[in-house]
Amino acid sequence: MSQYKRTALVLGAGGFIGSHMVKRLRKEGYWVRGVDLKWPEYAKTEANEFIQGDLRDVEFVRRVIQFKGYQGNFYNEVPYRLIEPFDEIYQFAADMGGAGFVFTGENDADIMHNSVSINLNVLEEQRKLNETFTGEKGWSECNRPKLNWKTKIFYSGSACMYPEHNQLDPDNPDCRENSAYPANPDSEYGWEKLFSERLYLSYNRNHGIPVRIARYHNIFGPEGTWKGGREKAPAAICRKVANLPPDGGEIEVWGDGKQTRSFLFIDECIEATRRLMDSDFIGPVNVGSEEMVSIDQLVDIAAKVANKKVDKQHIDGPLGVRGRNSNNDLIREKLGWDYEQTLEEGIRKTYGWISYEISKELYGYGNYEMADVDDQRAHHFNDYSNIATG
Ligand code: NAD
Repeated sequence: MSQYKRTALVLGAGGFIGSHMVKRLRKEGYWVRGVDLKWPEYAKTEANEFIQGDLRDVEFVRRVIQFKGYQGNFYNEVPYRLIEPFDEIYQFAADMGGAGFVFTGENDADIMHNSVSINLNVLEEQRKLNETFTGEKGWSECNRPKLNWKTKIFYSGSACMYPEHNQLDPDNPDCRENSAYPANPDSEYGWEKLFSERLYLSYNRNHGIPVRIARYHNIFGPEGTWKGGREKAPAAICRKVANLPPDGGEIEVWGDGKQTRSFLFIDECIEATRRLMDSDFIGPVNVGSEEMVSIDQLVDIAAKVANKKVDKQHIDGPLGVRGRNSNNDLIREKLGWDYEQTLEEGIRKTYGWISYEISKELYGYGNYEMADVDDQRAHHFNDYSNIATG
């Protein structure tokens, strides 16, 4: 009898949501293989086995979806009959970023090609592996008995697939799940997400692969990208505010600041995703917060948390839709899940973490005493939420 509850493969495990999911699954007693182009940037991975590689490569995906035992022997050759499918796959790998990456148009071909390739490879290779185990169209080298083993696959879709025409009014965006058609996402990223959720549904319908699909609405929190051009609004604003002197100053805000969004804290996203995976509900379903704010209000929250006076300079920049908010009616009904934290609580934890990362860059690892003298940011060491309230 194994000490592990189940096996899980987390694709995109070096990224923000994937690395948090790995932690959660390990806490729940899973054996986890993580896969990504890169290792997690901000913390050591907690995966039992972490494989660095490119999921656009079919051969690589074929090997990655095969579980060869708890010793973590991805690189070993084992007889085919000893290979098993994973119990669960979490597919987070995608070419993505914030507005500065997604809405400029400069990365459209990469976004579509890379993310679609990953999803096609995962589903098609899983189909082949499943058919091996039904014995009906099995590969000739496999002589295993019929197991009817079905790997459940989670796909991380996005609210960016909702039509632009329902998100023109910043005060009344319509993002109910059934408002998706006629489709008209405002970015190629959104079109790819819409295509891929349909791809997962097709493999479910035609090949019996159990899938679960979420439409995430702006997930944020510690250990997410906070600089370099792919960061999203909450992280970018926290960074800008943290970089101001203790008494405050001015930061640049893209657009007029009146565009609206909602933001969901990472722990709540992970909880909703796990509930969806454990349920019989396929989705697609919104996973988000209904606390809609304007970007200016988001800046005000970061300023309050930092206890700094922050002026906004509105400049031209890539924006996305005018208004967006999650509608949680369906997820409340199907899973009994709803967001619980306020945006301010989440920003407090995120601001604390980003401040700490900045301190590390400024003063180096371990030199907290110096940071303590020079900069209030050092106070956040080891406690993301330990920051003065405004
Ligand atoms: P992220 O960029 O932090 O993580 C994605 C990971 O995928 C990265 O670590 C990247 O290296 C990896 N990856 C990309 N191409 C790869 C390849 N060819 N082979 C192997 N790995 C590859 O993003 P995230 O915020 O953690 O988002 C995870 C998923 O959730 C994505 O699919 C994203 O589209 C979706 N999503 C996220 C949000 C959000 O607000 N964070 C909102 C909606 C949807």
